[in-house]
Amino acid sequence: MTRVVRTRGELRAALADAPRPFGLVTTMGWLHDGHRALMRRARDESATTVVTIFVNPRQFNEASDYTRYPRNEAHDIAICESEGVDLVFAPGVEEIYLPGFDTTVSVGAVARPLEGAARPGHFDGVATVVAILFDLVGADRAYFGQKDAQQVMVIRQMARDLAIGTEVIACPTVREADGLALSSRNVHLAPDQRAAATVLRRALLAAREAWDGGERSASVLRQRMRDVLEAEPLADVDYVSIADGRTLEELEIVDGPALASTAVRFGETRLIDNEILDVDAEPDPGTEVRPQVYGG
Ligand code: AMP
Repeated sequence: MTRVVRTRGELRAALADAPRPFGLVTTMGWLHDGHRALMRRARDESATTVVTIFVNPRQFNEASDYTRYPRNEAHDIAICESEGVDLVFAPGVEEIYLPGFDTTVSVGAVARPLEGAARPGHFDGVATVVAILFDLVGADRAYFGQKDAQQVMVIRQMARDLAIGTEVIACPTVREADGLALSSRNVHLAPDQRAAATVLRRALLAAREAWDGGERSASVLRQRMRDVLEAEPLADVDYVSIADGRTLEELEIVDGPALASTAVRFGETRLIDNEILDVDAEPDPGTEVRPQVYGG
């Protein structure tokens, strides 16, 4: 049975006698198979699995993105039930940000480029809420998706610097059969945009293929991605990046682990995806899952 709690007090009480280790999956709801994969991994490795559902206003740099972010709590709770989650924490905004709340957790260099540059304040919002959630839950481990690769790096840095004893675990990106990374925002795509959205994966695979073939010039690899993206008329490219896998600084020569990433707009909907370029890393297999089905 999945228990749903909404306040800090209820959460504390529910966890007081719960067996450790605690595995945490933080989400903004509208749960899909990407979230399910994180829940399964958490459940496999934890005695108590906790999922948080909180659409965090502080990590949206555009008010319209926050208001139109999809929400369906009953459906989300049913998904948590079906995955054997022990506890769902679904607080209101004022339960996370108490009256007079006036602290921001701001991570440095790794939070600045890419999503940090494109979405000012985004990672401050993420780092702040995740620090609060790690502490409220007292999580031993927390599971995050590789789809948001920079987010994983920002949270790792935050947890290490603030001596928060939660281990941050990155899990592979879950994709639709045609390669599109699952995202709550995909629901906003019109049919023609949905079809066009496979271009992120195609662009990243073009970079991957060139890299596999020995290409080490970052500008050539970025151009391979741009060529694919610009051939898609509905895609409005935000950025294309070949960056150092540890610092996220843009590279000239790829001579170590690197991250290929891109952000693309389709109308109002902005999507991101990435691919790790590393001799020691398995290629992203493009895990295929059941189609995403929503009741309401
Ligand atoms: P969100 O609800 O979008 O904030 O995402 C909650 C968690 O699920 C984050 O750690 C995301 O990186 C992760 N996630 C989102 N989409 C995917 C996906 N397609 N595959 C794996 N993890 C994902």
